[in-house]
Amino acid sequence: MFENLSERLSGVFERLTKQGALSEEDVKTALREVRVALLEADVSLPVARDFVKAVQEKATGQAVTKSVTPGQQVVKIVHDELRHVLAGDDDAPGELKIDNPPAPILMVGLQGSGKTTTTGKLAKRLKEKHGKRVLMASLDIYRPAAMDQLAVLGAQIGVDTLPIVKGQSAVDIAKRAKQQATMGGYDVYLLDTAGRLHIDDTLMGEVEAVRNVVSPRETLLVVDGLTGQDAVNVAENFDEKIGISGVVLTRMDGDGRGGAALSMRAVTGKPIKFVGLGEKMDALETFEPDRIAGRILG
Ligand code: GDP
Repeated sequence: MFENLSERLSGVFERLTKQGALSEEDVKTALREVRVALLEADVSLPVARDFVKAVQEKATGQAVTKSVTPGQQVVKIVHDELRHVLAGDDDAPGELKIDNPPAPILMVGLQGSGKTTTTGKLAKRLKEKHGKRVLMASLDIYRPAAMDQLAVLGAQIGVDTLPIVKGQSAVDIAKRAKQQATMGGYDVYLLDTAGRLHIDDTLMGEVEAVRNVVSPRETLLVVDGLTGQDAVNVAENFDEKIGISGVVLTRMDGDGRGGAALSMRAVTGKPIKFVGLGEKMDALETFEPDRIAGRILG
C-alpha cells in the first residue's frame, strides 16, 4: 500500500542516521526529499508542505542537531508527525458510536466504491467482534441487483437483511428498517444507500431525506483508496452536502500510492475509521495510525 513511499523514505533516513553529526542544512536537504516522496505518493500539496514545515520546526532545534543520535531523533519526529497527519489527535478512530440500540449507520458513497461489500464486512465485524445483533437494508431502488447482492452477503455472513419490497422509496425502506430494528431488538442497523457514478443533487437529496428520517449515529463514506486525491475531493463534497462522521478507504490492498490515506484527515477533518484490504468479508481492518506510520517508515 505504501511500498514506494516507504522505500523512498527509508533511503533518506538511512543516509541521515549514518551521519554522526547533523547540520541544519543536512536536515533541510533530507526534508526536501521527504516532500518530493510525499508528492509522488499523491499526497496533496498543502498537506505535504505543512508536514515538512512541522517536522522542520521540531528538528532544527539545538536539542536534535546536538544530540548523540540526531538522525534517529529526526526519524522519531517524522513518525510522530505522520501519525498526526493520519489521525489528528484521535486515539481510537476505528470506534463507532453504537450505544443506545438500535443504532443506525448510514453507508454512503459513489457506485463501485465498495459500499455494499463494506456494509457486509462491517456487519460481520459488529456481529462477530462486538457480539451485536445486526440488520442490513439496501436502499438502492435503482439497481435491484444491488439489493440482491446485499441479501446474498447477508445469507453468507449470517446477518439478517430487511425483506425486499418492490416499489418503495428509499425513505420508505429506511422507515421500515428503523421499525424492524426496533421491534426485532437489533443493536445496529446498516443502511446501504444508492451510489451514483458522480455526485449529483438527486443522490444527495435522497441521502439527506433518509438521514432526516433515521438520524444516523454514524454516516460512513466509502471511497476507493486507489483514486488518491479524488477520494479526498469526494469526501469533502459528501461532508459539505450531508455531513459524514468518518471514512472507509477501500482497495488498500491494491497498488495505490497511499496519498488518500495521508491527505484525508488533514484536508477533511474527518477520521478514517476502517480500511478495506480485499474482496473477502473479513478483509476490513480498523485504521491504526501508529501501525500505518510504522509501516510507512519501515
Ligand atoms: P458498490 O457499488 O459501491 O456497492 O461496490 P461493491 O461493494 O459492489 O464493490 C465493487 C467491487 O469492488 C466488488 O468486486 C468488490 O468485491 C470490490 N471491493 C470492495 N472492497 C474492496 C477492497 O477493499 N479490496 C478489493 N481488492 N476489492 C474490493
